[in-house]
Amino acid sequence: MTEFKKKKQYGQNFLTSSAIPKRIAAESGITSEDCVIEIGPGFGILTRELSAIAHKVVAIEIDTELMDILPEKLSGCENVKVINADILKTDVNELIKNEFEGRNVCVCANLPYYITTDIVMKLLEGEYGFKTITVMVQKEVAERFCSKAGTAGYGAITASISYYASVKRLFTVKAGSFDPKPNVDSAVIRFDVYEKPPVAPANKDILFSVIKAAFLQRRKTLLNSLNSFFGSSLSKELLSSIIIGCGYSETVRGEELDIKGFCKIADEIYKAIN
Ligand code: SAM
Repeated sequence: MTEFKKKKQYGQNFLTSSAIPKRIAAESGITSEDCVIEIGPGFGILTRELSAIAHKVVAIEIDTELMDILPEKLSGCENVKVINADILKTDVNELIKNEFEGRNVCVCANLPYYITTDIVMKLLEGEYGFKTITVMVQKEVAERFCSKAGTAGYGAITASISYYASVKRLFTVKAGSFDPKPNVDSAVIRFDVYEKPPVAPANKDILFSVIKAAFLQRRKTLLNSLNSFFGSSLSKELLSSIIIGCGYSETVRGEELDIKGFCKIADEIYKAIN
């Protein structure tokens, strides 16, 4: 067999020892009753650990060349099915309906770094009812995902994520644990997906528009950001009275608001527009 050459364009930095996959699986919250979607099994080092703890694992791998290698790497793992597909193009509702018999479904992956945010947002925004999503990402991205309102890493992504899940940083993984060795360290984080979001906005699209507007220009006040975005339909005076009416100063910045604050303001904007 010719030697497999790892593909940079697919983010193929493979884990080299089973200690880290074991720990990822152990801290993922997955039980023997649960089913798992793994994204990017690579050589199957994490897949084997997931197979050992879960009822069933479906692993989605984009690289067709790995389809010849994985059956041998996963020999004995009877509860694993590998599908050759791009996770970003996969119909996740269909997958869940066809593969998992109504059981709880978790996601677990050492994510390809070039599409980390796209994957995480697809999994959360799809509201597929996952129990947990445990992923390894670049350390800086983990810090951003876990940052709280008012801190430097907090942004539109973090605020949006907090509508769907609570995020916990589990542990750091050194760059030397991968082949090839990436330039940065990684961290494993776990999203505990809410069954019910912490806020119930009058209009979800307006809530996410407010969040997006608030971070378009970080140095602007929330008032100026909202005015740039909603100014064609609402006056600046009205936006100012909404912000003050919600208990904030006129000079507050978007990064100071948590999801509850954004929801309060979005609901008032929704009322004013309608
Ligand atoms: N799980 C293995 C490990 O921990 O050693 C490999 C992880 S590697 C960081 C990322 C894996 O995701 C690779 O196997 C890569 O081919 C696969 N991948 C990249 N883009 C993908 C996509 N869009 N859909 C599915 N798999 C993808």
